[in-house]
Amino acid sequence: MNLEKLSVVLEKEPKYRYQQINKFLFQDYISSWQEASSLPQALREKLAKECPLDIKSELKINLRQKGSQKALICLEDGVLIETVLISQKSGKKEDKEARYTVCVSTQVGCPLACSFCSSGQDGFTRNLSSWEIVEQVVFWSRALKSIGKVDNVVFMGMGEPFLNYNEFIKAAKFMNNPETMNIGARRLSVSTAGIIAGIKRLSGEKIQMNLAISLHAPNDILRQKLMPVAGKNKISDILHAVDNYITKTGRRVMFEYVMIKDENDSEQNAFTLAKLMARPLYLVNLIPYNDTGRYHASRPETIKKFKEILESKGVATTVRLSFGGEIEAACGQLKNRRKRK
Ligand code: SAH
Repeated sequence: MNLEKLSVVLEKEPKYRYQQINKFLFQDYISSWQEASSLPQALREKLAKECPLDIKSELKINLRQKGSQKALICLEDGVLIETVLISQKSGKKEDKEARYTVCVSTQVGCPLACSFCSSGQDGFTRNLSSWEIVEQVVFWSRALKSIGKVDNVVFMGMGEPFLNYNEFIKAAKFMNNPETMNIGARRLSVSTAGIIAGIKRLSGEKIQMNLAISLHAPNDILRQKLMPVAGKNKISDILHAVDNYITKTGRRVMFEYVMIKDENDSEQNAFTLAKLMARPLYLVNLIPYNDTGRYHASRPETIKKFKEILESKGVATTVRLSFGGEIEAACGQLKNRRKRK
């Protein structure tokens, strides 16, 4: 899909064409200009030539399958990015419909090289443009067309959103725009490895989206072992930036803590973490680790104990349902597997 020439093609067209086209592309989710039935035939043909709508993907998806699904999208320069669809039933009897969350990548590869994450292992290729980020949601929206729609978008795929801030925020605002995708700001979430400059910038944005911080360790020494980016972004400075964000926005912030066996999951770690996290509007989300070979997942009993310690100190704590494991949905895993084959 490439809409770069859209404004050129529409130059001499009446203004209302944009509205019509936005509706076709981002509400009806057409995948061919021929489906844009109210546009003149000649315009449809021109658009088909100048603004192709096809999205090349590498994996077959099966929407009847439960849980998560992953697809690889092939971009114009041939690079592959991964995007995940997570479907969840609410659990309430009267609620038959599933909710759909799309997890988007913001970069090809990742420059951060966190030691437990497969995206970081191959290094960094390039930033994604805002269109390439939006396209991932368009891809799943088209696939879901007959059975549902995308409810939530999380910027938690490959890459560090705040190291591609301009394109990330452009994409988020586009998704939120009532004239295009109309996804409520509260249904958009961004996760950062703790890039302080990005937290500050987000605090100043009008868009009220959710912020999550990948903390993963209760002190800088351990954090730096797992995440080299922790060298420049100290926990105390991150928390200071988060507190400013909370003062400005009044919004809750989620701290992600991936539970890795014998690395960051001791009782002592839980007590130290509790001291940092016992604050209003802080929420800890414990993430069962998806095994990548180098590290292993904490035992369920360990996670349970860790949660109990945090809660006993007044820290709001949840454990993330592990959607990803069986389809290798942890950041970067699928793309690497494909390379191995
Ligand atoms: N760079 C951003 C967003 C991408 S990663 C960030 O660091 O937040 C999204 C989340 O998945 C992060 O919390 C990351 O630490 C976590 N993650 C990466 N590899 C994982 C794995 N193997 N198992 C579980 N979570 C993982």
